[in-house]
Amino acid sequence: MNLFTVETRSRTDFLNIDRPVAEAIQAIGLTDGIITVFIPHTTAGVTINENADPDVLADMEQVLDRTVPWSDGYRHSEGNTAAHVKASMMGSSVQVIVENGQLQLGTWQSLFLCEFDGPRTRQVWVKGI
Ligand code: ZN
Repeated sequence: MNLFTVETRSRTDFLNIDRPVAEAIQAIGLTDGIITVFIPHTTAGVTINENADPDVLADMEQVLDRTVPWSDGYRHSEGNTAAHVKASMMGSSVQVIVENGQLQLGTWQSLFLCEFDGPRTRQVWVKGI
């Protein structure tokens, strides 16, 4: 397994992690196979979505905030229930095909770490098979 850390910049943040994931694939030495990108946190997740128009990410944040308000009479005493729910909505892992040592993503796709309780230091784990 390979891992790297990222610094998120605000409570909600979508960080493009294509480059460090590509570096992890090189470090692993995987040329053809599948990688799993796993986020070992309960208030951050990972997703694949559009890298071209940043408004897509802004709209995703808006929809998530509207769907899961920060305060809504939740029970969890830490006060970050919305972040837990959003992290589960995004999911904690994605799989991507690797061919010739390169991530196989669609033209407009990138990998995004999804922060919902930042800013924080987050780990990303990468395992190839
Ligand atoms: Zn919590």
